[in-house]
Amino acid sequence: MTHSSKNSLTVNVDLAERSYDIQICSDQLTVVGSSVAGWLDRRLGASSTQQSAFVVTDRNVLAHANVVRSSLEAAGFRVELAELEPGEKTKSLAVISGLYERMVEMKADRRTVVVAVGGGVIGDASGFLAATYNRGVPFVQVPTTLLADVDSSVGGKVGVNLAAAKNLIGSFYQPLGVFIDTAVLSTLPDRDYRSGLAEVVKYGVILDAEFFAFLEQNVDGINARKPSVLRHIIARSCELKAQVVQEDEYERTGLRAVLNYGHTYAHAFEALAGYGVLMHGEAVSIGMLYASRLAERRGLIDAALTARQRTLLEQIGVVTSLPDPAAFSTDDILSKMRLDKKTVGGELRFILPTKMGHVTTFTDVPESDVTAVVDEFAAGRPE
Ligand code: NAD
Ligand code: ZN
Repeated sequence: MTHSSKNSLTVNVDLAERSYDIQICSDQLTVVGSSVAGWLDRRLGASSTQQSAFVVTDRNVLAHANVVRSSLEAAGFRVELAELEPGEKTKSLAVISGLYERMVEMKADRRTVVVAVGGGVIGDASGFLAATYNRGVPFVQVPTTLLADVDSSVGGKVGVNLAAAKNLIGSFYQPLGVFIDTAVLSTLPDRDYRSGLAEVVKYGVILDAEFFAFLEQNVDGINARKPSVLRHIIARSCELKAQVVQEDEYERTGLRAVLNYGHTYAHAFEALAGYGVLMHGEAVSIGMLYASRLAERRGLIDAALTARQRTLLEQIGVVTSLPDPAAFSTDDILSKMRLDKKTVGGELRFILPTKMGHVTTFTDVPESDVTAVVDEFAAGRPE
């Protein structure tokens, strides 16, 4: 599934006629335009008329987006660019509405490609724009955060928030291609980088013991954002997520749920801390350790497996405990868990490890065990 040439890896996401490539390279952003042109020709057939591209980005990554713009122009595209406000508020119908107007002004047609240059916010919003304008126009992602590289740009979930709930409005819409240049991560703030690493560790725990060991052996490279290490961890993470998505593209069989390891606790912590206080990846890191401890209590694993995760997360600088583990009551945590949109019929579902690289979904975990773990952490971190 993965092809490699010098300094470049390609992961193919195999989804019948919606299949596409994720290209992972370093210092190649100046040639992204020719990849986009190639993907467009392959999907829609070569065109004799001039093609147009709508680059959507945010202020913090404008410099990268301008490189993408120049490269698209060099490849023959007429380019319009929209610079949005950084932050979660940008994922709104009001912002999308403004972007529809821009696309009308630029006389966008069925061949106009929407190119998202940014993190998960820009990717999710632009993907929703592309999915709905004219009932769907071509879409390409150029992710610029580690989280977007390994998570939000894989799997086709696009959408925006409503005041009532995050990600409530959306669709499944696969891109024509994803172009990942690890060099853009050099400007990513440290906290965002570390937060993205939590999801990388997650893939190892849930699906690939060998990958987890690779992370353990490459702590220095990870901390230094070494390009060759980044290319490998991004490619393997994309490949693992793609395997799950290929089996359950529309989240119907329950298989895709394995990706939610650590997330039942994490979503509760994020909600109780107030959105934006804990970063998502930080909450996931902490949530994985709670879930792993829960697996210990259920007799599924021994303490060494939890310790291995904690050690790796600490070595790569990911937060592993709540600022104040006693701040949230067990009742509040349980009621947030029941409200989680991933909950089915109010029944709590936990994704728990049974050995390194393997998880199983459990719906029969007694609440007393769920809260006992919270109490243990509140009383002082269990070892
Ligand atoms: P983000 O897009 O808000 O980016 C984080 C911050 O970093 C922003 O301020 C952004 O401007 C800045 N930034 C991005 N790249 C940068 C760079 N290279 N240099 C400097 N600054 C940079 O957040 P995110 O963490 O990438 O994504 C979070 C979003 O992703 C959430 O909305 C979440 O719902 C969504 N998400 C979607 C999926 C999915 O499957 N579609 C999966 C996970 C998360
Ligand atoms: Zn997550």
